[in-house]
Amino acid sequence: MSTRAACVIGWPVKHSRSPLIHGYWIRQHGLDADYRREAVKPEAFADFIRKLSSRGYVGANITIPHKEMALELSEPDDRARAVGAANTLWLDGGKLFSTNTDVEGFTGNLDDAVPDWTKRSGEAVVLGAGGSARAVVYGLIERGISRINVVNRTLDRAHELGRRFGAAVRSAEWNALPGLLPRASLLVNTTSLGMAGQPPLALDLSSLPAHAVVTDLVYAPLKTSLLAAAEARRLAVADGLGMLLHQAVRGFELWFGVRPRVTAELRNLVETDLAK
Ligand code: NAP
Repeated sequence: MSTRAACVIGWPVKHSRSPLIHGYWIRQHGLDADYRREAVKPEAFADFIRKLSSRGYVGANITIPHKEMALELSEPDDRARAVGAANTLWLDGGKLFSTNTDVEGFTGNLDDAVPDWTKRSGEAVVLGAGGSARAVVYGLIERGISRINVVNRTLDRAHELGRRFGAAVRSAEWNALPGLLPRASLLVNTTSLGMAGQPPLALDLSSLPAHAVVTDLVYAPLKTSLLAAAEARRLAVADGLGMLLHQAVRGFELWFGVRPRVTAELRNLVETDLAK
């Protein structure tokens, strides 16, 4: 049998950690498989995707700026359609299918870090209303969270999430946070605040209940000031690197037929790379 290959397609793509993650799993499972980077300009993306199979690929990860186009050019599942973006493609019977694995990356990471997170009573507070917030909100709804407060600088974008996902979602402005945090069992940062090179995310977490869980999608730096503040209060936390690793699992399984595990060794490998 010939080598099965997948790739990550983006523009630019050199920052992607996907080759490191999938390369680790390929070696760990001793597979005759390959995972490559493909730098593809927006104007060349549709043609690249149509010829994915003849280029020798069984599927691909999709990163900025192609995720919306990938959705249009494939048969999306419910997650990709709901999020409005596809980040994982696979070929089956000559057809190109897609999903959005940020949804399960987010919930899988929480399941791993705080197994009883859905059982803690209270509401969810999601900071941000961009692309990753859509995946987070969809994941929360999938897992039965009945009240999700989306807090965003631009209120219209939070309203848009409410329209997209229905009655479970309430939108609020940033200055509503002091009223929302005491009722929260989960606080999620999906904004880019706190990321290296961006303004800090300065929040007073003192009013969060002691059983609240705090998670940050930002993974550079690994320990954001939000997570540090949550740990200082001894709250349960889940970091953004965990989500990044968990979102990669499904693609690998679809392309190479083995469900890989997020191990401490893999975390260390990617952590070392992020620290460079
Ligand atoms: P996006 O679509 O560009 O959305 C950015 C969000 O951040 C918007 O809600 C925006 O608010 C808010 N924001 C940006 N600057 C702000 C500021 N100065 N003050 C207040 N709010 C601000 O980005 P995204 O794709 O959702 O990604 C967001 C973050 O999540 C990035 O750091 C990304 O690396 C991370 N991420 C991590 C993973 C993972 O696997 N760990 C996966 C996906 C994304 P406005 O609407 O008001 O502009």
